[in-house]
Amino acid sequence: MGNVLVIGAGGVGSVGVHKMAMNADIFSKITLASRRKFKCDEIAKSVKERTGVEIATAELDAMDVDATAALIKETGAELVVNLALPYQDLAIMDACLKAGVNYLDTANYEPEDEAKFEYKWQWAYQDKFKEAGLTAILGSGFDPGVTSAYATWLKKHKLNTIDYIDILDCNGGDNGKPFATNFNPEINIREVTAPARHWENGDWVESPAMTTKYKFDFPAVGEKNMYLMYHEELESLKTHFPEIKRARFWMTFGDAYINHVTVLQNVGMTSIEPVMHEGKEIIPLQFLKSVLPDPSDLGELTKGKTCIGDIATGESKDSAGQKTYYIYNICDHEECYDEVGSQAVAYTTGVPAMIGAAQVLKGNWAEPGVWNMEQLDPDDFMDMLNLNGLPWEVHELDAPANF
Ligand code: NDP
Repeated sequence: MGNVLVIGAGGVGSVGVHKMAMNADIFSKITLASRRKFKCDEIAKSVKERTGVEIATAELDAMDVDATAALIKETGAELVVNLALPYQDLAIMDACLKAGVNYLDTANYEPEDEAKFEYKWQWAYQDKFKEAGLTAILGSGFDPGVTSAYATWLKKHKLNTIDYIDILDCNGGDNGKPFATNFNPEINIREVTAPARHWENGDWVESPAMTTKYKFDFPAVGEKNMYLMYHEELESLKTHFPEIKRARFWMTFGDAYINHVTVLQNVGMTSIEPVMHEGKEIIPLQFLKSVLPDPSDLGELTKGKTCIGDIATGESKDSAGQKTYYIYNICDHEECYDEVGSQAVAYTTGVPAMIGAAQVLKGNWAEPGVWNMEQLDPDDFMDMLNLNGLPWEVHELDAPANF
């Protein structure tokens, strides 16, 4: 049915192409391209062994717009799935416009020298994609991604309004390492060391990073400390659901993780400002990344479960007054490893990337323009989550979130 070019052979890219190969009726031709071709070839070998499907591979620097456009044309792809880093988003969007194909990613653009999480750069492509008759889907991972589709599903089927929303991201997994991030360390540390920000009564409320915490009892995981953080979907949710009075994002971290990040931050190792080292300019955070474990090597070691979801309160569709729902997925690290050779954090991102790509290829998400996930019809996406390893549950709660 569809021909895709996937860019990025990291943890998420690996899961994405394995799951595409398992849906060969939708993904009839898959090419995986990345900065280092040997990583694509290793993934292609695993895909062949696990599914019997052959995928093509290529070397590509996605910052090179002409080279990316040429590869798109050479492969005949109709959709580019960007699973590289947020720094490449705009270059890949430019290449899609140049080659005349659709685009999908899982993380918003960030300039490499500024840890700014804003959609303004990608939203500025709205007219270009519209005029070209092409579709760009932003943030089709888990958060952003599934958590935004959950909100839209609640608004379509359960609530007339979403007045309060909390996104709760819990990783109850343990990889046995004293300190390791579960996706790209540079991107992860930029995110967690940024000031916390949430949306309340028409304004952003800012607080220092990792200072507001709450102990929450997560389904299938148990009690964990979750910390208030800024996350990019808060900006798009409050824009597309203007009735929202409060939107917050929470992520769990163990004490050891918090202690390590605090020390690394205090000594300047998380900085993205260049420093001179033995006559050469280096970025401390990039150096730190090179000594930390590679998240794609942690699959075999990681045990436990993730539980990610939304608690949303709004005016009920079926009765007078407000109702509160908790909608979430539970994912098991070891089961993911057995299925595709990756831990649950890469799995919970790569599967929705595949399902979002399937929506474009099936023609369900075909409106020209640049769209965030909560702007798109959620029903087939939600059905595919149930069929492709990320089943979800929705429960009515007795009361709104009290934290
Ligand atoms: P990795 O660092 O494991 O993988 C990124 C891949 O992109 C690597 O293979 C890297 O190549 C490749 N790459 C980097 N720069 C270029 C370039 N210029 N040209 C071509 N390829 C390039 O990251 P993850 O797999 O952990 O994450 C992938 C994306 O998913 C990130 O954008 C991340 O922010 C996002 N994400 C989204 C989540 C969500 O829920 N929405 C959750 C987790 C991640 P090389 O191997 O040579 O370095």
